[in-house]
Amino acid sequence: MDIVVGTGNKGKLEEIRALFNEMGTQFRILGLDSFPDLQNIPEPGRTFEENALHKARTVAWHTGRVSLADDSGLEVDALGGEPGVYSARYSGPEATDEGNMAKLLDRLEGVSFYRRTARFRCVLAVCTLQGKHFLARGVWEGIITLQRRGDRGFGYDPVFYDPDLDLAAAEMTMAQKNERSHRGRALRDFAGKWPDFAESLS
Ligand code: IMP
Repeated sequence: MDIVVGTGNKGKLEEIRALFNEMGTQFRILGLDSFPDLQNIPEPGRTFEENALHKARTVAWHTGRVSLADDSGLEVDALGGEPGVYSARYSGPEATDEGNMAKLLDRLEGVSFYRRTARFRCVLAVCTLQGKHFLARGVWEGIITLQRRGDRGFGYDPVFYDPDLDLAAAEMTMAQKNERSHRGRALRDFAGKWPDFAESLS
C-alpha cells in the first residue's frame, strides 16, 4: 500500500522513510514531490492537531491515497510557548533556518541555560479518502543552547540540546535523533495505533 506523506521538507521525509524501514513495514512512502500540483498546503490552524489534520485531508482528497501529514514545532517556555505553530515562519514570510535560529537566540539573550527549557512537538494525522482518520503524538524535551552546535539535521537542530545524550540535535546521527525525537515518538505511537485503524477499514 502507498502512503503519501504531506511534506515538501526533504529532511522530514528522510526521517519518516528511515523510521518506516526500522519498523519493517511494507508501505511505499511517497512524498509530495510525486504530486507537483500539490505544494505548499496552507497551515491555517492554531494548534498542531488542526494543521496536521487539515494537511492530511487535503493530501488524501487530492491523491486518492491514504495520507500521513505532520505538523511540528518548537515550544520555548521562557517565550510563553513561542514559536509554536509558527516555528517554520518565525523570522517572517521568507524565513530560513538561520534566520529563525538567530531570532530565537536573540529573544533568549540573557536567559540562563537552566531557564531555556523547550520541547519539540509532533502531531501526525493519518487520513483515508473517505475521511477516516486518527492522530499520533510525540514530544521531545530539551534546552535551547547559548550558541549553535553541530551541522546535521535541519530547522532548529543546532540550538536544541538533549541533556540525556549530552548532544545537540544537529550533533546526533539520524538513528540517535530518530530514537529521541518528537517525530520518532509520534511515529512509534502511529505504529501502535495503525493495526486497529487498518482493521477498521476492512
Ligand atoms: P512544519 O511542521 O512543516 O509546519 O514546520 C515545523 C518547523 O518546526 C520546521 O520548519 C522547523 O523549523 C521546526 N522543526 C520541526 N521538527 C524539527 C526537527 O526535528 N528539528 C529542527 N526543527 C524542527
